Amino acid sequence: MWLHRLAETLQQDFLPSHCLICHISSASSHLLCNSCFSSIRRNPWACPQCGYPGSALTNHCRRKTALHFVQAGLEYSGVTRELIHRWKFNGAIELTQLLVALALEAAPIKAHYHALVPVPMHWRGRWRRGYNQSKLLAQVLSKTLGQRSHWKPPIADNLIASPRKKAQHHMDRQQRLINTLGRYTTNRSFSQQSVLIIDDVVTTGTTLEAVATTLRKAGAARIDAWCLARATQTHEVTAPSI
Ligand SMILES: [Zn+2]
Ligand SMILES: [Zn+2]
Repeated sequence: MWLHRLAETLQQDFLPSHCLICHISSASSHLLCNSCFSSIRRNPWACPQCGYPGSALTNHCRRKTALHFVQAGLEYSGVTRELIHRWKFNGAIELTQLLVALALEAAPIKAHYHALVPVPMHWRGRWRRGYNQSKLLAQVLSKTLGQRSHWKPPIADNLIASPRKKAQHHMDRQQRLINTLGRYTTNRSFSQQSVLIIDDVVTTGTTLEAVATTLRKAGAARIDAWCLARATQTHEVTAPSI
């Protein structure tokens, strides 16, 4: 299986061979033990507008939006949540390939896009963390797609994020949308292009919608989004201080 082949190629970074999550030692070279690997919850049947798990058949969202289709391959829970936390908040950027591989397995990218557009961070947040995790995802995703299908989508890292107007941990979806719209700007034209927004975790979907609105204003004809995971409750991804 390709995922296990990928794990083998990464093994040297994680010697000795212990499961990343439960630390059980293993004779195999996999990053995760079978038990942790099989506990990862995939999110194949999700709301096409916001990625909410299991809601495709119930028409979860019926709003007018610039976003055409949202994929979030994993549920933000259990092992996935633990991996993303380490990757995002503890600087474990060597997990990027594993996370992209897991999410791609659950949410394959079938269309060819003119560009992958990582959700930008305000410079202060990027400075504190040292990197923009969405850009990192876009880079690894582009490379992975190039290796698998000889189609290596370019990355358009041309959006600028201004600071949030207010902290929004306790806001509902509508308040978040108002707080987020207008945060993102770009001077680049996306005229008639199809683009794929890249982000790590979708909570309410308002960030994706705000980015999509900016891309639509810049001329994009079709706007989809691909994310690692979908949170089922908004408080789950409250980040420490960034
Ligand atoms: Zn394990
Ligand atoms: Zn929805």
